[in-house]
Amino acid sequence: MVRVSSQFRRSGGKGAGEIKAAACGWKEGNGGGPAPGAEIKEYKERAGGAFQAAFKAAYKTMCLTIPAKVIAIDNPVPGFPVANITVEDSKGRKEIKSLWLPELKVGDWVLYAYDTAIRKVSEEDAREILELLEPKKHIDISALDTGFLEVLKGHSTGNLSRDGIVRLLKTEDPLEMETLFAEANTVRQASLRDFFCIHGIMEFSNHCAMNCFYCGLRRDSADVVRYRMTPDEIVGAVEDAVNRRGYKLIVLQSGDDFHYTDIKLVEIIRRIKKSSKVFIFMSVGERSIECYRRMKAAGASGVLFRFETSNREIYNLIHPGQSYDRRMELLKGMKELGYYIASGFLIGLPGQTAEDIADDILAMKALKVNMASIGPFIPCASTPLATHQAGSAEMTLKVTAVLRLLMPRAKIPVTTALETIESEEGRRLGLSSGANSLMFNLTPERYRGDYRIYPNKYHGKEEVWEKYGLFNEELSYRMLEKKMFEAFEVLK
Ligand code: SAH
Repeated sequence: MVRVSSQFRRSGGKGAGEIKAAACGWKEGNGGGPAPGAEIKEYKERAGGAFQAAFKAAYKTMCLTIPAKVIAIDNPVPGFPVANITVEDSKGRKEIKSLWLPELKVGDWVLYAYDTAIRKVSEEDAREILELLEPKKHIDISALDTGFLEVLKGHSTGNLSRDGIVRLLKTEDPLEMETLFAEANTVRQASLRDFFCIHGIMEFSNHCAMNCFYCGLRRDSADVVRYRMTPDEIVGAVEDAVNRRGYKLIVLQSGDDFHYTDIKLVEIIRRIKKSSKVFIFMSVGERSIECYRRMKAAGASGVLFRFETSNREIYNLIHPGQSYDRRMELLKGMKELGYYIASGFLIGLPGQTAEDIADDILAMKALKVNMASIGPFIPCASTPLATHQAGSAEMTLKVTAVLRLLMPRAKIPVTTALETIESEEGRRLGLSSGANSLMFNLTPERYRGDYRIYPNKYHGKEEVWEKYGLFNEELSYRMLEKKMFEAFEVLK
């Protein structure tokens, strides 16, 4: 398959090939990987119960793994559970390791992440996931406008200008859009390989002191049934999501609800860190920087805190009583505290132009966000923007793609808002336009319907995705830890 990218992709496939499985204290490889002899020695030395259990856990990873067909198996020691295997997927053949898959035969399908086959899957399951992930079309680039191609080419030399971004955002030509999405998808594959993550979000309170024009939970929304989860409920629900379902990164989100004092939030974080092995991201709005410092010290790893729009005028118009400068200052303060930063903006706000969105995108790059969280605005009854048009799915995908071109290694989730306007297709489209993770709703059923920042929030098919993506063992945590560490290294 010839994709447009093959014509101007940087050589070398940055990021590919250096990462070894991070399981159970294994060392990073030095290119060729550890010698089989060393592995056996280490295995034998540590084959006590604990190590064996951890080793078995290598079946399991939290992130969506990629199916490939086994072409050859080379087992250095017969019966030993580590083998070097050759697999084939759409990108050709490669050598990887298989761990603890003694029954593996040539012709079987495996799921692999990094350079390690994690487990066997049926051919049917393998094809189902390939269908979800692989872009299908071939693109005839000779039919494309040369100006468009020039802009697209710019990204590979680091020359994607504001004008170039605007050109990409404004295109409505189906072939150009398809090319942009395919290019972003290729950049994702080249820099992150096929490593998709599933994270969870738990909305623990829908009370809010703010009055944002777009948000259904705004202070003045009278028709909202307000709820607050108790610390016990929050800790218990996280425990269930982590220990039963296998989530390893959970966003705790609420309105700006000061019923949860700094001390309460800190206590909740401490209790979760004690009972569950999970990365916690806080999305609790505008609190003091001191509060963020204390939450970090208690064990929070990241924040989800959008700047919403980088157009000051629009910001100030739709956020009465808030200030753009304060929000940005807080965001920078969080970064200085060492938080993993998830931030972003809304698409389709009143008065917002393609140029504004280009500025939003450039602001994300300047902030060096680790996770880009963007989504279309969805009108919500009883808000001042109830009759304003929703942001478009198409624009959301274009923005996703441009973000991927500019930030090849950032985490870009498909956000619920895109799923809400496009349902399951939104997920697939997002993932094939440069996004690389999914964010599933973990709010307990009885509260979920009341967290209505916008109407008809989508959720569906989580179980199918979880089947591939979530397993509750140690390796997945280690892999994520490594990924997050890498994100910092790259973005520093
Ligand atoms: N109080 C927290 C969480 C806010 S809700 C904070 O201030 O960070 C989380 C996000 O939902 C917001 O940042 C906003 O971007 C998004 N959101 C709110 N209302 C929305 C709407 N009507 N359509 C789409 N996204 C919306």
